[in-house]
Amino acid sequence: MSEAGSVLEERRFGGVGVSPGIARGTVFVYRPDEEEPPMRLVQEADLPGEIARFENALIATRQQILAMQQRIAESIGAKDAGIFDAHLLVVEDRTLIDEVLRNLARDKCNVEHVFANVAGRYAKTLSEIDDPYLRERALDIYDVTRRVIHNLLGKERRDLASITVPVILLAHNLTPSDTAQLNRELVLGFGTDIGSKTSHTAIMARSLNIPAVVGLHDGSTQLATGDHILLDGYNGLLIVNPSDQTLWEYGELEIKKGAVEEKLTQLRETESRTIDGRHVILSANIELPQDLDQVFQSGAEGIGLYRTEFFYLNKTELPNEEEQYAAYRKVAESVRPHSVIIRTLDLGGDKFMTALHMPAESNPFLGWRAIRFCLERIDIFKPQLRAILRASAVGNVRIMYPMISGVEELRRANAILEECRAELRAEGVPFDEKMEVGAMIEIPSAALAADILAREVNFFSIGTNDLIQYSIAVDRLNEHIAHLYEPTHPAIIRLIRMTVQAAHAHNLWVGICGEMAGDIVLTPLLLGLGVDELSTGAALVPRVKRAVQALDIAACLELLEEVKGMDSAAAILARCEEVARAHYGELL
Ligand code: PEP
Ligand code: MG
Repeated sequence: MSEAGSVLEERRFGGVGVSPGIARGTVFVYRPDEEEPPMRLVQEADLPGEIARFENALIATRQQILAMQQRIAESIGAKDAGIFDAHLLVVEDRTLIDEVLRNLARDKCNVEHVFANVAGRYAKTLSEIDDPYLRERALDIYDVTRRVIHNLLGKERRDLASITVPVILLAHNLTPSDTAQLNRELVLGFGTDIGSKTSHTAIMARSLNIPAVVGLHDGSTQLATGDHILLDGYNGLLIVNPSDQTLWEYGELEIKKGAVEEKLTQLRETESRTIDGRHVILSANIELPQDLDQVFQSGAEGIGLYRTEFFYLNKTELPNEEEQYAAYRKVAESVRPHSVIIRTLDLGGDKFMTALHMPAESNPFLGWRAIRFCLERIDIFKPQLRAILRASAVGNVRIMYPMISGVEELRRANAILEECRAELRAEGVPFDEKMEVGAMIEIPSAALAADILAREVNFFSIGTNDLIQYSIAVDRLNEHIAHLYEPTHPAIIRLIRMTVQAAHAHNLWVGICGEMAGDIVLTPLLLGLGVDELSTGAALVPRVKRAVQALDIAACLELLEEVKGMDSAAAILARCEEVARAHYGELL
């Protein structure tokens, strides 16, 4: 209700639901890149007032930085909080401040405009010098400049760390590193204008188990912080000022979904076995060691994909071997006797670590990412391999390499792994000599050459997220072509089939760790294709388990035979849906 008592009109924005659930609350619109401050001429007599505003803004900025430094030191550690020392130096920089004061007297315009110009010029000059240290200082100046300008304009700086009350986050875009910082207690859900189902931001939302909707077009410009909304992650809807009728309908939906979820939690201790007795290993994907709790609650048999790069994303320095060992060891000990498959660093694509200054590329998903990066940066790769090997001494650890395109890469990675083993043996450091090594099959060349790769590893894990994007040439992040991103494309089914056949012919087991593994419409097809393991976000594990338990392999093989004779992705999907509906319709 408005103050006058009139009912505010309900408005709906459609998008794509990428993480199920319903959130209700007030919106926090996150706009990290505010526009330039406008210019305004001032009188000579106003100059002392402008100087006082500037001094106050610098003092306020300093206090904010100190408070943030303290918060980070308490939550992450003093080392990470050290980055803010450089920010403090910017607000105390006499040369910068004096130039602002001189230009203020000369130009006689509002101080935020003068400051933005002077600081912008400083930062630009530094960023153009070929020195990583100075380029880093330029980023510090940009960051502090935004903060000072916010203070001058009287706006509270809006960043993700400043969220202190429960909100639904709305942004034009969120990067995977933004998403990794979200506090799941306070962020009830999020929506973005752009994005897609298999972006790492969407994958993180499912891991965090928070409802999310992407592809809201201009939603973030239409709403303001404080608006009351309902976010429907099942159907991809954002509803502003939901009416009483809408709230009632959603209340009913939540009751229904709650009852299904309740039934699913009872499956926790049961086995993921088909009616006719085939055990399909059902494991969970994690991004951070904090995700472990959810893994235990889900009843997953260990971890089929640990995306280690998330450990690197929001760090100001590369994590060293000891830090990584501590994290991997914790995960390995927690899931024992089940296994954890630790994937080596998959940076690049849509995941970047600022501290590494990786060059901007026109086609980052086809560029210097994952194993390609690690094979060149052995200084980064080896500490990770050593940390993983060491963790293998305390648990059931397996390792796998992302983005393998051919056998040469695989052999080089294995040779470096062998060097690490030799070093550890010489140092007398224990590790599991029999630790299994796997390759991700996520590039079509790897699927087509799976029989060659099979000779070099113990298992395959099919990364369908990338396999689909590379096979159909459809950028997994681009919502304009999302309709072409079809997991049931006949070519994808053939590539999976080829991979499974090559693996089994060489006595290797094969899993799927892309998002296809969590889509219960596709479970009958994947079982028909003969995969041995499915690994998905923990929140989806109980549903997949229920699907497996309701199927028999004969029906899955029959479906595969039928599908082999079909020519369109839509027709194959429709047939899969019929089979799924016939076996576990209540889940769909
Ligand atoms: C995949 O590509 O399917 C996969 C599991 O890896 P990621 O989503 O991290 O690229
Ligand atoms: Mg991948």
